[in-house]
Amino acid sequence: MYRLILFLIIVFVIYHLFKKYVLGPFRPRHTKPGRKPPPITDELVKDPICGTYVPKREAIVYGRKGKLYYFCCKECLEKFKHPEKQTKP
Ligand SMILES: [Zn+2]
Repeated sequence: MYRLILFLIIVFVIYHLFKKYVLGPFRPRHTKPGRKPPPITDELVKDPICGTYVPKREAIVYGRKGKLYYFCCKECLEKFKHPEKQTKP
C-alpha cells in the first residue's frame, strides 16, 4: 500500500516538473490579452532614384500626390524633386 502512495507522489512530482519545464517558456507572463505587437522599426524601403534599400527610420521621407517616397540621401531627394536638373554625362 505504501509503495502505491509513493509511486503516485513520484508521478505527481514528475508531472509537475514536466509541466513547468516544457510548458513554462511558452506561457506568456506579462503580456495583456489583445495587446498589439510593437511596430517594425527596421523596415527597409527602396530609394526610387538609386535603387538602394534604406531603413525606414533613417530614410529621408518626401510626400507627393498623397504618396510617400523614401530616399537614402538629400541628393536623391533633389534629383526626384527636380529631375530636369540632372547633369548628363
Ligand atoms: Zn539614393
